[in-house]
Amino acid sequence: MDSRANLIGLDRDELKAAVAALGEPGFRARQLWHWLYARGETDFARMTTLSKGFRAALVAHHVIARPAIAHHQKSADGTQKWLLRLGDASAVEAVHIPEEDRGTLCVSSQVGCTLTCRFCHTGTQRLVRNLEAGEIVGQIMLARDAFGEWPAPAEGRKLTNIVMMGMGEPLYNYDNVAKALRVAMDPEGLALSKRKITLSTAGVVPMIRRVGAELGVMLAVSLHAVTDELRDRIVPLNKKYPIADLLRACRDYPTLRNARRITFEYVMLKGVNDSPADARALVKLIAGIPAKVNLIPFNAWPGAPFECASDEAIERFAKVVMAAGYPSPVRTPRGRDILAACGQLKSASEKARAKDRLAAQAGAA
Ligand code: SAH
Repeated sequence: MDSRANLIGLDRDELKAAVAALGEPGFRARQLWHWLYARGETDFARMTTLSKGFRAALVAHHVIARPAIAHHQKSADGTQKWLLRLGDASAVEAVHIPEEDRGTLCVSSQVGCTLTCRFCHTGTQRLVRNLEAGEIVGQIMLARDAFGEWPAPAEGRKLTNIVMMGMGEPLYNYDNVAKALRVAMDPEGLALSKRKITLSTAGVVPMIRRVGAELGVMLAVSLHAVTDELRDRIVPLNKKYPIADLLRACRDYPTLRNARRITFEYVMLKGVNDSPADARALVKLIAGIPAKVNLIPFNAWPGAPFECASDEAIERFAKVVMAAGYPSPVRTPRGRDILAACGQLKSASEKARAKDRLAAQAGAA
């Protein structure tokens, strides 16, 4: 086992401390930061602005590691999914969704998830742990690797936006997520603007305030139901933080009118939450909040206890929301053929684990 510490995921102060520990002055940390996060360099030997002695010391004590790519798939619609193997052999997925004028990377914050939302495949995965900051930033970095965007071109970038909407609840791993996003937003490095980063939460109310005060990124809230009775059932976190508390936190979230709307995500489940009455209740609930409502057609997975609402029901729902003055785009499912769509992340990683186990057994035998 390599005991050398990974530099990816360290914030500026920690990198400075690591550099000082090797007997180098503070400005070296800044040079190193540039190599790591603006240039994406993975080989100390090529860091030509650093002295040979410093490079040797770095090689002796540190590595520059991304999560390992265990499996890579590309959908017919251009969506890509990476299954990433972490140091402890657990796995997460990251998904890239290309669009005409931008490209969004969907980043995971945990291995699995503890929330057990009834419609989400990730919630059925047993193994759960928080990702470290380096494992979160590493997902962004390996997408940049894949697109050769070091340094990032000014025009036509394939990676422009980040959504913390992969596996896990980011606000149950706040410290590591916050650290990773600060690294991602650093103007001398990955330089992603806070306007292009969206953090999605199932509604961990006390942490929403910290996101607003400390990070200022765009907020998405997985609402999915308009009564506590239903939301308790399909998003069990609601028992702890009911709808009224959640919406109060949304009202308090620092927004600038239309430029900074909150996104409410709403998964369309047939016969469960898809009626016009639900739509009317929804616009009443969010009245006064600068918002947009993202309607997500339910993505099925093996054994899922729901069906997707019909196109007509979704359209009817969208019309009510739109008439109330809220944009209500229906999210086109992307990457369904590779199980990369919302709520489908898990299967591939578990299958891959099973395959690894079989291979290991075969090896042992
Ligand atoms: N835990 C965070 C981050 C996950 S984001 C959150 O809940 O917001 C993933 C989004 O996809 C959430 O809005 C989630 O509710 C939604 N989702 C989960 N399963 C889905 C499915 N099967 N079909 C469509 N959307 C789903």
